[in-house]
Amino acid sequence: MTEIADVVIIGSGIVGSSVAYHLTEQGCTNVLVIEREAHQGKGSTGKSMGGVRAQFSTTVNIQMSRYSIDFFSRFDEVVGHPADYRAHGYLFCATNQRHLEYLIANRERQTALGVKNVEMVSGQEIAAFVPQLRVNDIIGGTFCQTDGFVDPHSVMMGFMLKARERGVRLWLDTAVTGIEVNPALSGTAGASAASGGAGIGSAHRLDSTHRVSGVMTTRGFVSTRIIVNAAGPWAAHVAQMAGAALPVEPLRRQLVPTEPFEGLPKRFPMVIDMSTGFHFRREGKGILLAWNDPDETPGFKTDFDPTFVEKILTRAADRVPSLAEAEVNPRRAWAGLYEMTPDHHAIIGPAPNVEGLFFVNGFSGHGVMHSPASGLITADLILHGSSELIDASQLSVDRFAGGRLLKETAVL
Ligand SMILES: Cc1cc2nc3c(=O)[nH]c(=O)nc-3n(C[C@H](O)[C@H](O)[C@H](O)COP(=O)(O)OP(=O)(O)OC[C@H]3O[C@@H](n4cnc5c(N)ncnc54)[C@H](O)[C@@H]3O)c2cc1C
Repeated sequence: MTEIADVVIIGSGIVGSSVAYHLTEQGCTNVLVIEREAHQGKGSTGKSMGGVRAQFSTTVNIQMSRYSIDFFSRFDEVVGHPADYRAHGYLFCATNQRHLEYLIANRERQTALGVKNVEMVSGQEIAAFVPQLRVNDIIGGTFCQTDGFVDPHSVMMGFMLKARERGVRLWLDTAVTGIEVNPALSGTAGASAASGGAGIGSAHRLDSTHRVSGVMTTRGFVSTRIIVNAAGPWAAHVAQMAGAALPVEPLRRQLVPTEPFEGLPKRFPMVIDMSTGFHFRREGKGILLAWNDPDETPGFKTDFDPTFVEKILTRAADRVPSLAEAEVNPRRAWAGLYEMTPDHHAIIGPAPNVEGLFFVNGFSGHGVMHSPASGLITADLILHGSSELIDASQLSVDRFAGGRLLKETAVL
């Protein structure tokens, strides 16, 4: 018997789980989520730092954060599962006038969009948050109390458990190997994908509109008219299965936890040193250190590079001299993949030329914090064709061909 679903979601990370939850919120429950791993959270979601912030520079990111952070603050009550939202704040520290002016301009936009609790702070006020910070070159910064952290795994589980309670099915250990587009196609893309044999490599871009009619999986064929690509860093491969182009590239990101460290307060905000991009927060008894290595190149690299420890500790000790004494066990450090787009903004919405295929991809380091908003927007687009939360056309994949790129410079 052919399996049938109204919507098939490919990928059960935090984004696919949020889409499933938000579909059920609006009564759409004949949904099948397909995950190739034996457990949820093996992709980027399980590697995340869990940071959430409204301190962005573009309107669309601020709007998505505003909705999402409010959602996280009510998550336990609404979803019935803990998000472990901790409103410890994000503290941006500027060491030059250009960065300070950037923060001032951002704050004006954030305030205008309803995020009214972003405060300008002086070097002295910054030192009061974290007395161990070297502040002699810090000329000011911004602090937003409702920024903070969540537990990505718990949020993902909460979304999925609630969705399943309402009838959503989750197939684990099942890979999607092809996407069938309707037979009125030219060329071989859909046929080869649907036959299950030729797979990803043989797919090519379709020139005219086609419609999806199902997915091939390692458990057999599933008939559906709506497919959501929530495949994280692997999203471009999934898009190719339907002959669609999606500019999402994987980029390795590495995090280093210290051993228990008492040389910093028990509670303090995420601190961002804008001069180097180094940022850190407390994680249990230790400190979680993060830095975006500009020499990193795109690719599916998920091994942790031990030489990164020295690079990050140099930045850490420069800003917090006492961190030079922190112990680090490289075996506890880890690497994961950001899903990058050319303008560092998500791609959300229907695929041009492939009717019934929806993207919710390319979060460029913000997929956890924007998961509530992206789930809602995707559900709205599938069920109503538009969303009241934002003008979703801004995030359409069309923007790259049309030269309408968005610009966010604060990528962490
Ligand atoms: C080190 C690091 C730190 C980060 N820190 C933050 C942060 O502080 N804040 C923040 O908001 N974001 C952060 N991010 C980014 C965030 O983790 C991602 O944007 C987010 O997890 C993306 O979720 P996802 O569900 O789209 O992808 P994923 O979690 O990768 O899920 C995709 C799923 O699709 C499955 N899949 C792929 N292909 C197939 C297929 N063919 N068939 C079936 N299943 C398939 C995969 O197995 C996977 O489970 C960080 C990322 C990393 C790596």
